Amino acid sequence: MSRAERYRIRFDSPMQAALCARIAGACRYVWKAYRIGPRPSVSFFTLGQRFTKLRNDPAHAWLKALPCAAVRYTLKYLADAYTRSFTSADAGLPRFQSRHRTTPGFTLPDNVRLDGTRLYIPKVGWVRLAGHQGRYLGCPAKQVRLPREGDERHPRWYAHVFHEVPADRVRPPAATGALGLDRNVGQATDSDGRVYAVPDTANLEANIKRKPRKADKARERSRRNGQPLSHRGRRICGQLSKLRRRQKRQRPSAAHRHSRRMADTAHTVVIEDLDTKAMTKSAKGTVEAPGKNVKQKAGLNRVILKSNWGLLERQLAYKAGALVQVNPAYTSQTCAVCQQVDRANRKTQALFECTACGHTAHADHNAARNILVRGCPWTRPARGVGASARFTYPCQARWGPTAATTSRIVCGICGRGG
Ligand SMILES: [Zn+2]
Repeated sequence: MSRAERYRIRFDSPMQAALCARIAGACRYVWKAYRIGPRPSVSFFTLGQRFTKLRNDPAHAWLKALPCAAVRYTLKYLADAYTRSFTSADAGLPRFQSRHRTTPGFTLPDNVRLDGTRLYIPKVGWVRLAGHQGRYLGCPAKQVRLPREGDERHPRWYAHVFHEVPADRVRPPAATGALGLDRNVGQATDSDGRVYAVPDTANLEANIKRKPRKADKARERSRRNGQPLSHRGRRICGQLSKLRRRQKRQRPSAAHRHSRRMADTAHTVVIEDLDTKAMTKSAKGTVEAPGKNVKQKAGLNRVILKSNWGLLERQLAYKAGALVQVNPAYTSQTCAVCQQVDRANRKTQALFECTACGHTAHADHNAARNILVRGCPWTRPARGVGASARFTYPCQARWGPTAATTSRIVCGICGRGG
C-alpha cells in the first residue's frame, strides 16, 4: 500500500540548500521553455526527447550540473496538464504563474535512496530527514516530492516521501461497527452524537488581513526614504508568511484527526453522496440570465468549501474499513425512531422533534442515524427490512446495502467498489 509521510529536511551545509534552490529554478525554467508553442506533441516521452537536446545545447550547459531525472520530471507534470486541457472542458492550457504564487520544488521520480533517516538527492548528496513520526521508516520509497516553503531568504525544505508499505504495517481500522456521518457547514456529526468541528480560523484570518497593510506601509516608507526594508518591516513579512503557513496546515490537519478517530471507532463509515462541485457552483449565471442572490451563494460556497467535505471523504476512503455513500434525500426530515418523514419534524435548524412519536434529538444527530441506516440496513431498529443483496468483502465487512439507497460503495481495505 502506498502511504505518504512528510519530513523536514536538514542540510549539512548551506551549499546543499542553494543547490536544491537551483534545481527548483531549473524546473521552473524547463516548464516555461516548453509551455508555449503550437499544439505541441505533448507526451512525456517526446518532451523528454526535446529536453535531452536542450541539455546538450552549449547555451544550457548549466543544466548539466543538475540532476537530469528530477528536472526532466517537470515535463511529466506539463504533459499531464496538456492532456487534461485537451480532454476536459474545465481545464485550460497550462499556465505559468509568478514565482511568488507557486510553491517551488522538484521531484525525485524513481531510484529513491533512503538510508535510515537520510535521503540521497543526486548532485546534492545525503540530507537528514527530521520532524517525523518514523511510522514508515524502513519501508522502500517510490517517489519523493521536495517542496520549498518559507521564502527565498529563509527557505524551509520538506520531503514528501511516498512509501510502499506492507499491509501489516498500515494502521488497521476498527474490526467491527458502523458509523453514520452527517456533514454540515462548519462541522460534521456522527450517529453516536459526536461533533467534529472544523477549526475556527476567524482570529487567524483577521490577523492575516491586518498584516499586509502594515507590511505595505513599511515597504512604502522604505521606498520613500530610499532605504532597504526596515527590520520591523522584515519582521512583519516573516510573521505574515508564518501565519499563512499555519492557516494552510490547519484544515487538512483537522480532517486527518477526525477521519482517524472515525476509522478507529467503526469499521464502516456511511456518508451522504454529496456532489460538492455542483453544490458550490457559482450562482452568477450568464449575461442574458443573471443569477439571483449571487453574493449570498458565494458566501455559502466559501463555507461549504471550508468545511472540507471532499478532503474528509478522500481520507476516509483509505483509512476506514469501508466507505459507503448513500442518497442524502430526506435524511434530515426523517425520524430515526419511527421513520416518519415530515418537513414539520425539523423545528429549527438545530432541533428535531417528531410529529408522530415525539422523539426529540439534535437535528444533525438524527440525520446521521438515518444515514447509517441507509448504508447498513440491518441496523434498522424496528420493522427490519430484509437486505436483498448481501456483500462480503475480503476484509470481512458484511452489510446488505439496498440498491435504491446506496449509490457507491468503496471498500477501504481491498479497494473494491460497487
Ligand atoms: Zn418519530
